[in-house]
This record gives sequence, C-alpha cells and structure tokens, in this order.
Amino acid sequence: MNKAEILSVPVLNDNYVHLIHDPATGATACVDPAIAPPVIAAAEARGWAISHILITHPHGDHTDGVPEIVAKFGAQVFGSRHDRMLIPHCTNGVAEGDVVQVGALELQVLDVPGHTVHHVAYYFKDEQALFCGDTLFSLGCGRLFGGTAEQMWESLKKLRALPAETLVYCAHEYTNANADFALSIDPLNADLRARADEVQALRERGLPTVPSRMESEKRCNPFLRCDVLKFQAQLSLAGQDAADVFAEVRRRKDHF
Ligand code: ZN
Ligand code: FE
Repeated sequence: MNKAEILSVPVLNDNYVHLIHDPATGATACVDPAIAPPVIAAAEARGWAISHILITHPHGDHTDGVPEIVAKFGAQVFGSRHDRMLIPHCTNGVAEGDVVQVGALELQVLDVPGHTVHHVAYYFKDEQALFCGDTLFSLGCGRLFGGTAEQMWESLKKLRALPAETLVYCAHEYTNANADFALSIDPLNADLRARADEVQALRERGLPTVPSRMESEKRCNPFLRCDVLKFQAQLSLAGQDAADVFAEVRRRKDHF
C-alpha cells in the first residue's frame, strides 16, 4: 500500500487546509483552500505541486483560494455536481459512490447534506482519514445552512459508522468552544471531560486538536450521541426520536 503524507495548514482565524500528497506519483490534493498564499507556501516548502483541489461545499472560507491555486498549478477542481456553478473553476462534479483518484491514492465521495444541501466528504480508506469540511467537527458539527436537522443527523450517523480509528480532518479549529458547550449539556461524561482537558492543554501550547479519532468523537461529541439513552435522559428527552434530539441539541448550540 502506498503511504500518503497528510499536512494540515492552519489559515485565517480557525480554518485548516489539508494537503494530501502521494509520494509515488507526486500528485497532491488540497482540501477546501480558504486562502491561497499560505497553502502554496506550505506545498512549495515540501516541493509539492497541487494537482487536485477537493471542495466539500461552496462557502467562501472553503473556496476563496481556488482561483489562485488553479492559476499557479493548473489543478483540477472537484466538488458536488450540484454545486458546480458555485465552485470557482470546478472541473469535476462528484457524488456519493464516486472515487477521486489523486495519483495512486483513492478518495471516496460521501454525500453528507446538512450544513449545506449538497455538502460532500472525502474518505481516504487506505489511510483511515476523513475530510469532512463543516459537517463533523471535533466535539461539534456544522450549523444548518440549507439542510434539515434530519439530513444532518443521517449524515452524522453515516460518518459515525466509519471505522473507530478513522482520523477526522475537519475544516475548523473550533474544538475548545465546542468543548464548553458539550460539557454544558453532557456534564457527567468522563470521556468528554478528559478530552476537554486535553484540548485545552493542546491549545495553550498552540497545537492543533485536529485530526481527532472517530472513536473519541463517538464517545464525546454530543451531536453523535443523540440516540444514546443516557445522553437523552440528561436533556429530559429520553426515548425521543434521535433526529428530534439532534435538532434540539443543534438549537441549543446555536444559542449558547
Ligand atoms: Zn461552511
Ligand atoms: Fe467553514
């Protein structure tokens, strides 16, 4: 198996642009370039030329760097086929079941509507890495800007079903603030407390909390626990439909 190199470049206030490099062929993908210069600099520092741009959804903080990277490297641009008109220079419309080939590396496209109606994620099975944009965050999830709570809950369940070892490469460093909210509604969760402490210690040293492990998200992230009876009971929603519980947790976070 071909070992890929993955590099997360922190940009703007709290975005990550992830680079995926295939040493065998030199192909390099960049996920959700919020801005171009620091991403180009990080790639060039390693001698990488960006050949593929993978977009999860057409928000400016995920696409604004596309034109400059395309101009510089002539990269191909992938995004949901429903969002093609909204993604600058989009050359390849994709949907669930498609495989994006980055050199010898293969990334599977997953439809994960909710944050936006046509949000997609890229799952790199061989490296057990998930690039999920603004769908799943460490200890949080994206706001509903187009999709319904039901869609988002289904999307989160789909991601939760990936192997426990999966590394979650989300697009934002929101973990500390997410931990505060998570603890406010799930205060008895010892795993969450431990993760919140770890997150705080990492951030105090200026270190990233991304990627996290799906296993940890399953135990700690309140948005992935909406069908867990013990969690529901803490919200006085025991036995309710999980999508409704999700909608309520999302609502509370929006007003936190
Ligand atoms: Zn977004
Ligand atoms: Fe975003």
